[in-house]
Amino acid sequence: TAAKKATKRTRDDDTAGPVRISSPDRVVYPEDGYTKAEVAAYYDAVMPQLLPEIAGRPLSVIRCPDGSQGACFFQKHHTAGLKRVDSVRLKEESEASGEYLVAGAAEDVMELVQFNALEFHPWGSHADRPDRADRIVFDLDPGPEVAFAEVRRAARDVRELLKKAGLESFLRTTGGKGLHVVVPLAPAEDWELVRRFARGFAESLAAAEPERFIAVSTLKKRPGKIFVDYLRNGRGATAVASYSLRARPGAPVAMPLPWSALPRLTSGAQYTLANTPAHLRRRRSDPWAGMARLKQGLARWRQQD
Ligand code: ATP
Ligand code: MN
Ligand code: MN
Repeated sequence: TAAKKATKRTRDDDTAGPVRISSPDRVVYPEDGYTKAEVAAYYDAVMPQLLPEIAGRPLSVIRCPDGSQGACFFQKHHTAGLKRVDSVRLKEESEASGEYLVAGAAEDVMELVQFNALEFHPWGSHADRPDRADRIVFDLDPGPEVAFAEVRRAARDVRELLKKAGLESFLRTTGGKGLHVVVPLAPAEDWELVRRFARGFAESLAAAEPERFIAVSTLKKRPGKIFVDYLRNGRGATAVASYSLRARPGAPVAMPLPWSALPRLTSGAQYTLANTPAHLRRRRSDPWAGMARLKQGLARWRQQD
């Protein structure tokens, strides 16, 4: 297949050695004073954790050439100038095909940082099997006037309901307002089935407790309600990578956490460029380590409508 043809670009002298970060003193986070060099140092520090989260997956980046408060753009495709980062040719939603970014090594990530990428957003599938999802993301998006305690309760309830459906799930802050509840699938499942399951799950939550949850994307900003955004689950859809920075004030980070940390969590933006490296040194283990050993799928939904 086309995906199989993805091969490493030839490495000439241009791509030997570490990536040079230009304009290291340029301030990227104006509220916090963090420079491009500090952003690069952050990604260097979290590389052992970040790389496994994005490696081999089609990857989108949010690039902010004028800093986190300037105009940022969401980039899916490979562009001229990128010498290290690989690409994979994949069918687009619209039948055509496009050259998607795929990072495989630390230098690939650093090249994207040099190109002013602040955020990393992988697909829920790998480039060599783009049609098979290995992750479901339930993206809990609180509307206005929703207290964070309600977001915590929503994440806990989603976890319990998934457990009743025979699925283990994992928690992550987004660096924003909400939380992600992530379900690994092994072996991977067709996007079609994954989307049908995710949508059905979100709709049944909203039907059971309409005062708390909403599953209709056009109504996602309803005051007092949490939008269960199941639309992260489709071919070509992305969710922010664990350990990615966000282009928002405070330089918050998307952080995987053990479920035991949920009661103490005070905000989706609790972890930041400033406190994440120390947090990673302090924590005893990777809270998502169990994911790799888990074998679970959607077999019982395969035959349903
Ligand atoms: P929050 O907790 O504040 O909601 P979030 O990362 O979940 O943070 P969402 O707005 O819910 O933010 O977006 C969910 C995901 O949708 C993002 O992580 C990103 O991968 C994807 N996304 C966001 N903007 C775009 C865009 N312009 N084009 C395509 N996908 C996007
Ligand atoms: Mn969200
Ligand atoms: Mn969302």
